[in-house]
Amino acid sequence: MTIESQLLEMLKQAAKDVSKNAYCRYSDFPVGAAVCGGSGKIYTGCNVENVSFGLTMCAERSAIFSAIAAGEKTIQAVVIFTPTESLTPPCGACRQVISEFGDDVQIVSFSNLNCSGPQSIQELLPSAFGTLNHSE
Ligand SMILES: [Zn+2]
Repeated sequence: MTIESQLLEMLKQAAKDVSKNAYCRYSDFPVGAAVCGGSGKIYTGCNVENVSFGLTMCAERSAIFSAIAAGEKTIQAVVIFTPTESLTPPCGACRQVISEFGDDVQIVSFSNLNCSGPQSIQELLPSAFGTLNHSE
């Protein structure tokens, strides 16, 4: 499982750039995500927090929902950036949303110091909830 290196670099730059737009006044923990849709276009999202904390939306889902709203039917890759030393992989809710788009989505997390290899949703969310059989 690999992402073409030029595409990965574009996704990483887009995720890093959009993290600067994060609305994270409560956590001061900006996150940026970039998604490559099936068309090859790149979509971005950042976390958007709310004073009612449970309403906060993650960067990953923001990016995925933007891709779908733009007409994408499939997702090739999700790249997540946090300006930290350690990596921040997607939360459980985002993993479930990623799993909706099949087994071939490649997921990369990177920080100021580290970068994960591409991971599959099966690695990050084995036995995901669902009724769809994506292998058909
Ligand atoms: Zn999340």
